[in-house]
Amino acid sequence: LAIQANYYSVSLQIQRDSASEALRVLCTKRSRLWKLGHQVMVGDRVVVEEVDWNGRRGVITDVLPRKTQLNRPPVANADQVLLMFALAEPDLDPFQVTEFLTVIAATGLEVHLCLNKADLVPAQQQQAWCDRIQAWGYHLSLISLHTHYGLDTLQSYLQQKITVVSGPSGVGKSSLINYLVPTVNQTVGHVSGKLARGRHTTRHVELFQLPGQGFLADSPGFNRATLDCSPHELALLFPEAQQRLRQGSCRYHNCLHRDEPGCVVRGDWERYSYYLTLLDGVIARQEQLNQTSAPESSAKVKTKLGGKRCYEPKLAAKKYRRTSRKASQQALQKFYQDLD
Ligand code: GDP
Ligand code: ZN
Repeated sequence: LAIQANYYSVSLQIQRDSASEALRVLCTKRSRLWKLGHQVMVGDRVVVEEVDWNGRRGVITDVLPRKTQLNRPPVANADQVLLMFALAEPDLDPFQVTEFLTVIAATGLEVHLCLNKADLVPAQQQQAWCDRIQAWGYHLSLISLHTHYGLDTLQSYLQQKITVVSGPSGVGKSSLINYLVPTVNQTVGHVSGKLARGRHTTRHVELFQLPGQGFLADSPGFNRATLDCSPHELALLFPEAQQRLRQGSCRYHNCLHRDEPGCVVRGDWERYSYYLTLLDGVIARQEQLNQTSAPESSAKVKTKLGGKRCYEPKLAAKKYRRTSRKASQQALQKFYQDLD
């Protein structure tokens, strides 16, 4: 559930009669695991031995294989990201929503978008936002933590899953966690003192056990994350572009969908201009990375890029990525040749 220094807080699932209950124990890690270099992450499923039931202590002796792994925020086995925005206060900024959506899409995790503070805007305006975002290609929930509107439906999406809560500040993430996990007392509305700051560093993650089944991880990791993908992968992070690429293909395999002839992605979809803006950023970032490590070897860039990437995409995605990564490497090579 949480890691502090070399101590791991672990939730043990205990079967008693036909009921199962959770017991929280504080564990150290068996030295063999240290020697093997096995990291234990929040979200990991672990084997605990030498349990002292009275002192609630134990020793982690093994880490089971991970389904997924995020590095920012550091969470293992996350199933999805709950991306939260507010309809008002602060104003909903479609470009900012897009930035978050692309960063999350680059991790390979599912995203569930949820718009809070429905109580602050009239029904017509709520509907307009829903229609608009659905046209981009996403499902979303409207909620209000003040009136409790939509919260039952939202809760049903969180059952049996590890969900990472993400979104800019002020949209109601702490309010949501307080509502769903009443035993945690999170600071709502204002950030106070060292404690709150400590909680809000990217490295600190904690899983909260939901009353039903499932866990929530609260971390601002995605807020600080820059979009880490190659110029060629960017279009694949937009459902609108994906759809166009499923129906046809661009004349050039390394098309960046700007002004190349025979491009099927360029068009009058709403977020196409956002795509172009983000593409400029991604290209600038790649150039920068390449320049800073140019005197040494290009391997450094690779590890830096590779090390930061943190997903275990589904099978289909994996297959897709493999080809797309090769294609994007070739395209990048050409891109830099052209620059020279
Ligand atoms: P966080 O920064 O994302 O964790 O947001 P908080 O949970 O701290 O909420 C920020 C502010 O928005 C607080 O003043 C909350 O009371 C307020 N807030 C949260 N949810 C709602 C809502 O559904 N409606 C309205 N009107 N205000 C809300
Ligand atoms: Zn194209």
